[in-house]
Amino acid sequence: MRSRHAGAGSRWWCSNGDRAVGASVRNFGHGFIAAMADGEGLECALEARERWLELGRRAGIEVLECGSVIVARHEDELEVMAGAGRDERRGARVITRAEVAEPAPIPIDGVVGALHARREIRVDPRRAVAGLASLLEHDPGARVLWNAHVHAAEPGRVDADDVAVRAPLAIFCPGPDYRALPAELRPRRAALTLCRLQMLRVAGPGGRRYTPALLTGLSLLRYPAFTAQRGSERVRARIAEERPELVAAGIHLIVAQLPGGDPIVGDTHEYADTVSRFRDERLDRLVLAEATALLGVERLDVREHWQGVYPSMPGDPFLVAEPLAGVWVVEVVSGVGMTAALGLAPRAFDQMVDRATGARRGAPVPALAGAPPLSVEARADCGS
Ligand SMILES: Cc1cc2nc3c(=O)[nH]c(=O)nc-3n(C[C@H](O)[C@H](O)[C@H](O)COP(=O)(O)OP(=O)(O)OC[C@H]3O[C@@H](n4cnc5c(N)ncnc54)[C@H](O)[C@@H]3O)c2cc1C
Repeated sequence: MRSRHAGAGSRWWCSNGDRAVGASVRNFGHGFIAAMADGEGLECALEARERWLELGRRAGIEVLECGSVIVARHEDELEVMAGAGRDERRGARVITRAEVAEPAPIPIDGVVGALHARREIRVDPRRAVAGLASLLEHDPGARVLWNAHVHAAEPGRVDADDVAVRAPLAIFCPGPDYRALPAELRPRRAALTLCRLQMLRVAGPGGRRYTPALLTGLSLLRYPAFTAQRGSERVRARIAEERPELVAAGIHLIVAQLPGGDPIVGDTHEYADTVSRFRDERLDRLVLAEATALLGVERLDVREHWQGVYPSMPGDPFLVAEPLAGVWVVEVVSGVGMTAALGLAPRAFDQMVDRATGARRGAPVPALAGAPPLSVEARADCGS
């Protein structure tokens, strides 16, 4: 085994594949800023938005300032949307039924209004992650190792397949593979589990362009910015009564068009410690039925099906822990990594450096502030 020293200022980045194929390339690429909870979540999302725009310029990644339109089909949904829109940082406002057609070319039969969130961004996830990796590969201060499974760590040292790197700070971001980490690093929390989602890519119907991401009232059941609002329980109860099959399958509709014109359509949510490898065709049909109704088309031709998995925990969307001195585990434990991870990363990193040097700089990340130095997990559950 080669032993390497990560010299001052240098960074090593190891991935166990020969390219990224995890949640980061299987998602909608949608930065859903308006959906984030007040506090750290929203602040990270706003910061991440700026980082995506900056990194997009540097890496040649198209970052679309596309916005999103969440269509309301019932008055009770408008009340929840208006509540979320009250915080101006979300950049979202309720628009009338007549105004919907301007950002979103969809039929308005049965639509009573919408939330138009103008700060949302979107990338093509398959290109964006490859672009970020390439930016890193061209960074003279960085070493990028593909096909390097990291299997052990101790303070000051990380062991990957055929290389050992000595470095004062190591950060593990294993995504859904957190249970394959060495035992001493594995986050153990009763409520931590996996979420499996079914996704589709369909042919763009009739060459139409949908600039904003398109969503429906189902989003109001899933995201903290909405579930925290007055009236959200009423919306949940009504939708559960009217559409129990959607609620049971955790179906939530997003239509996000790729630059080439094919919309990505999803999704479903199944929670389990060991998620199924088998895609349920019935769930795809439910998602497609919601999408065709929203777009007002007779059918959608499916080009690709896939599933994605992310770690999930109720409450706080971020898990940040220092199980060994200078060895950290950082996970986004909710379906908001594209939205918020680029905001979490620099904040968490500053805190790690401060912890290591004993210094303090700026406002602490709440997750880390006050955490005991060598705790296995530095965060408390906050409930959903
Ligand atoms: C279907 C789907 C749709 C989503 N839609 C959105 C969305 O529109 N907006 C949004 O904000 N978020 C969305 N998310 C969530 C978002 O994609 C994730 O939060 C984010 O991609 C997580 O990034 P990650 O790097 O932690 O995990 P991943 O992208 O899964 O990457 C983890 C990587 O770690 C590597 N790895 C694991 N263990 C080791 C090891 N021991 N050694 C070396 N390498 C290792 C894996 O090979 C993998 O490449 C979605 C997620 C899914 C699954």
